[in-house]
Order: sequence, then structure tokens, then C-alpha cells
Amino acid sequence: MSLNDAVAQRLAMIAKLQDLLGFDRFRAISNERASRAVEGLSVDVAELAKDKKRLLDIDGIGPKIADKIIEFVETGRMSELDELSQQVPAGVVKMMEIPGLGPKTASLLWKTKGIDSVPRLKQAIEQGELLDVPRLGEKSIARLRESIELVEQGQKRVPLGIALPIAEEFVRAMERVPHVKRAAYAGSLRRGKDTIGDIDILVCVDDLAHAGPVAEAFRAQPRVTHVLVAGDTRSSVRAAIRNLHGAVSADADIRTKGGEVEDVAGHSIQVDLRLLPIESWGAALMYFTGSKEHNIRLRERALKRGCTLTDYGLFPEDDAPAKDTAAEPKSSKSKSKSKGSAKASPKAAKTPPPKKAAAQTDDRPPHERGVKPIAGKTEEEVYHALGLPYIPPEIREDRSELDLTETPRLVELGDIQAELHAHTTASDGALSIEELAREAHRRGFHTIAVTDHSKSSAIAGGLTVDRLLEHIDAVHAARAKVKGIHILEGSEVDILADGTLDYDGKTLAKLDIVVASPHTALKQDPEAATKRLLKAISNPHVHILGHPTGRLVNRRPGLSPDMGQIVRAAAEHRVALEINAHWMRLDLRDTHTKAAIDAGCLIAIDCDVHAREDFDNLRYGVLTARRGWVTRERCVNAWDQAKLLAFLKSKR
Ligand SMILES: [Zn+2]
Ligand SMILES: [Zn+2]
Repeated sequence: MSLNDAVAQRLAMIAKLQDLLGFDRFRAISNERASRAVEGLSVDVAELAKDKKRLLDIDGIGPKIADKIIEFVETGRMSELDELSQQVPAGVVKMMEIPGLGPKTASLLWKTKGIDSVPRLKQAIEQGELLDVPRLGEKSIARLRESIELVEQGQKRVPLGIALPIAEEFVRAMERVPHVKRAAYAGSLRRGKDTIGDIDILVCVDDLAHAGPVAEAFRAQPRVTHVLVAGDTRSSVRAAIRNLHGAVSADADIRTKGGEVEDVAGHSIQVDLRLLPIESWGAALMYFTGSKEHNIRLRERALKRGCTLTDYGLFPEDDAPAKDTAAEPKSSKSKSKSKGSAKASPKAAKTPPPKKAAAQTDDRPPHERGVKPIAGKTEEEVYHALGLPYIPPEIREDRSELDLTETPRLVELGDIQAELHAHTTASDGALSIEELAREAHRRGFHTIAVTDHSKSSAIAGGLTVDRLLEHIDAVHAARAKVKGIHILEGSEVDILADGTLDYDGKTLAKLDIVVASPHTALKQDPEAATKRLLKAISNPHVHILGHPTGRLVNRRPGLSPDMGQIVRAAAEHRVALEINAHWMRLDLRDTHTKAAIDAGCLIAIDCDVHAREDFDNLRYGVLTARRGWVTRERCVNAWDQAKLLAFLKSKR
């Protein structure tokens, strides 16, 4: 949420509370007006709040409200809102966040029925308690129920693997709409985060005059279930996520009862559309990709260079025409460099467009005043104009990426040439060894590792030592049949609760590759978890630590070992830490991966293949790896065959 939205929301809530508490209606109205004024601003309210006079110039903002805004910008609080909130149960305030539930209804429900929370309201609706409330018809009760559901879904973050295909579907559809020049998704999705709040779709049209039909085409997409905002340049919808992923194939502990995708993701996701002019594509893409922290750093950097960075471009600082006359040069006060329009650099706009008769400080953002941007068409252009190399979206998190002097060569999907964690029908996979190997070959890999479960994973059909020995023979037989790819015989061996492995050293030594993973006792305390993983890492037969924490996105926190110790030990013993690419795992997660890279660890990106389509999860693993600054050199799956085999042999 932008700061403007946050301020607008708080002012609106003050108005609602004043209404609820029966204050003078005029006070509520002035807060409502101010809320709308702030919402409609095209310039950051934090900028304006530096000078109260600029706030007061905005239609709808008086001295009292200006003070509230300044207080919020400076402290993150609005004391008036806090005071009002104290007079009303917190649950009633929450109730008013439900769209369509205004102060009147909230007050009615609270005072006549004692309903003071959203869960209580839900219960009352289900049990038909509201049917006798005056002025509340059956229809409005039904609408209320629907709104509550929407709010609840909106609070759930959706896993990357569900959001990304939906976003791609919208982008493809928008690219086919007449007058659309470019379409892309932005936001935390483009940064590859493991869960997504909502999807941001950016679209460029050849002429904004065509914005209306383009926005309409967006809202008419088959996946859309509700239209929340229907504007020409800005629209918001909720899109169904059902019927996208049927069965989820994966380890036994992911693959549970049906309907689990809904369980982890809710029924729908919010999709926001913004329409833009082509010349600000790059700047807008940057702005909406974020992160917020990264963008703040960029804006600071722009200011230091005497520029302004907005979602429309990077602009040279110009003197906004002064209150009385645009011709007179401004006197001292302006903190901009005293650069009269005559002396302005050739790139800066010389004359603002004709202005409205009203003599007012021009608070419009630079692009509306006709200032020509220095950069904005592409992201590269903007970064370079700020004296920076292009920064890949995945690392725009304000984790020292602005110190980079060149674009890092992070691992890419096309770099991956080996899958080192895969199951066959011998344990809980769906493919035979041969089928698995052929699929890996078809996908261009030089190596595939067969790593079925070990004996303790009974539910997953784990192999006894005898069955493992037979399985090794079967791998040898498959090697003779499938050419063009190297098949490794291996195991995904359980790390037992105390850190010992499920097969003894003699057995493990027979295998080309050993992936050691925790599957049980995932609630043990951090100290025990640390000891357990350290013991597995120091086992000389282990090449890869598989899904190190066992977490499941939105489902299970998994182990929380001391990651500092884990990554140091893994670097020392040259054990690659796995990023399990299944979108429900993404384990290691991004921050742990970055810690591993900083400690000098090797990283494996594996699909943990149980069925053919699991190979498609690779891109989620690669996104997570990029978020952790993994380069090609550090990723064992990106090595050529000789280097990979030498690494595996070095542990035998
Ligand atoms: Zn596993
Ligand atoms: Zn596995």
C-alpha cells in the first residue's frame, strides 16, 4: 500500500468512527473529503507534508487535517484515530473494513445485537440472527456474507506457483487486446517472492484514448469473479484460482487430500491493472515491481543527483511555477537548486503547458507540468541514469544491491543441466527409471539422479537395503537403454531425529549421490534441529542437504535451526544446500539462500520429481535462487557433467 493510500484509509476510518459515535456529521464529511483528496493525489503525500503550505493548497485539506497528515508521515500514527478507536471495540472497527458495511449498519449491529467482531457477525449471519434487524433486508445480508468472504480471502497470501500462471494468463490475454503495446506483471510476483498478496498487471496502450475498452477487456477475462474497481487507467478484480492445478504431485507429505490448493491459497486472488503511456514503461515497471525499500533508496539517490524519480520517469529538478506568476523566478525558499528556466539544461522542459487561470502553486508531478524525463522508457535506462547497473528484479530488496558496480550474472533457468533429486515407482514416484531419464533428456539435461526414499519413509514406499541394492541394478540396466543422459544411482536418505542417516555408511558408499533430507520430527526445538542437521552435513557420504527445514508454504513452519551454523558447516564440508523447487516448499527460502551464498556454500536447485510435470517447477526454484544471489558457478546443477561428477566423486 502506498503512503497516500494509507493516509486516505485512516482519514476515511476517522470519518466512519465519527459517524458511528454520533459526532457532528460535518466533521465526518470533512475527513471523507480529505480522504478522497489524498487518494486522488498523483504526488507522494510525504513530499507535500514537508511543507504544510503545500498540503493546504490541496482542495479539501484544512489546517487540522494537514496536521494529522504531517503527524502520520512523521510518526506513522494518527492520534485522533487512536483516540476514536479506543471508544469502540476493536472488532467493530474491523467490521467497518468490510466493503459495504458502513458506520450506520455497524452501529446498528453493535447496539441492537451486541455484535462486536467479524467472526461474531459471520456466526450471526449463518444462524439467521439478523433477519429481524430493521433496515437490513435479506439481500443486504447476502451481500454482507459475500463481502466477508472476499476480505478473508484477500488476507491470505497466495503461493508463487499458483499466482504466476494466473498472471501469465492475464498478460497473454492483454497482449491480444487491440491497442495494447506491452503487457507485463510486476510486484512481488516479478521479484519471485514465495507468496504473493495480489497480482499487478501493467499495460501500455498506443494512445490513452483507447484506455476504456482495454480496461474493459481486462475486467471481462473469464477468470474474473468480482470487479472491485472499474476505472479506465486503474481496475481491480478478483480472479478465481480454481481449476488451474488439478492434482499436486509431490512428496507424500505435500500430497494429501483433494482440494488442497484451495486450502493453501483461498478461492481467488486480487488482480490490479494499470494502464500507462509507452514513454514511462520502464519507470512504471520499476515503481510497481518494488520492493518499497528498494524504491525508497532509488528515490533518495535521484534526489541527491538533483532529480525526481516517479512512476512516470526520472525528471530533472525544475522550478515548479510559483503561486503568483510562472514568469517571475522564485525567491529563496525553494530547496531546489536555483535553476531558472532559462538556465535549465537542454533536457529540461523550458515552458510548462498552459495553466489553469487559478493562481496556485503547481503541485502536479513533473510529467503533468510538461517536464521531459531524462529516462523512463526502459528500466535499464533509468538505472543507468542513476549511475547504477541494471538490477535484476529478484534482488531489489534493499539488501546491498545498490552497492553493485555491475549486473550480477545470477543463475538462469537455461543454465540448469542436471536434476539431482527424483523419485521413481520404486518409492512414491509416478515414472519408471527409464521414463524419468527420457523426460530429463527431453528437457535438455545431461544428468538425472534417481533418489528414491529410504526405509524409514514407509508411507512413501522407502526402500529397504535389499531393495536399494536391486534398485541400483535396475539403474544400471536403464543406463544401457537410455542414451544421451547420465543416470546416477542415489538415494534421498532420511535424516532421523537425532541426525543419523537411515542407511549405514557402507550402503551409502555404494551410491553415486546422496541427498539427505528431514521428513519427520519437524517440530523439534531449534537446538535439536541444529544438532540434527549439523550431524547430517558432517556425514562424509552426503552431497546434498534436501529441503533443509521441511517447511511447507502457508502450511507448516518446519525446522528452525541456527542457519548461521548450518551454512558455515555446509561450506566447510562442501555439502550443497538444496532449494527444493516445488512451489509449496521453496526450501531453502530466499533469505537462507542469501546467507548460504554469503558463507560460500554450494547450492542445488532440484525439482524433487515425482511426476513428469514436476520438472516445470524448476522456474520457482530458480527465482528463489536468484533472490538469494546464486550465481551459475555456485549452483551444482548448472555445472557441466565433468565438473559435477568430479564433485560427487570427491566424496567417495
Ligand atoms: Zn523429501
Ligand atoms: Zn524427494
